[in-house]
Amino acid sequence: MGQTATINETACPKCGSESKPFGRHRNGLQRYRCLASDCAKTFTEDHKPAFRIEEYLLTDQGRMAIKLLLEGTSVRSAERLTGCIVTLSFAC
Ligand SMILES: [Zn+2]
Repeated sequence: MGQTATINETACPKCGSESKPFGRHRNGLQRYRCLASDCAKTFTEDHKPAFRIEEYLLTDQGRMAIKLLLEGTSVRSAERLTGCIVTLSFAC
């Protein structure tokens, strides 16, 4: 439960390939290494951006998610109904 990572979040910033966890940075952020053998770049996950309502408003699903939340729908239900990952950065 709570597995919300997506491929995009851990894609190599250099070549865009998938990466795998590669230890932890001393500040606690997850480190990753690119799976492309000709790249193998290591990088640290981005700091999670704060919730930004503007991004949700760009898509129908995002707008629906906001609407559901305003109606008192639980975050989990809003996620299920819209396919948006509401608790993270915009990830429809
Ligand atoms: Zn790479």
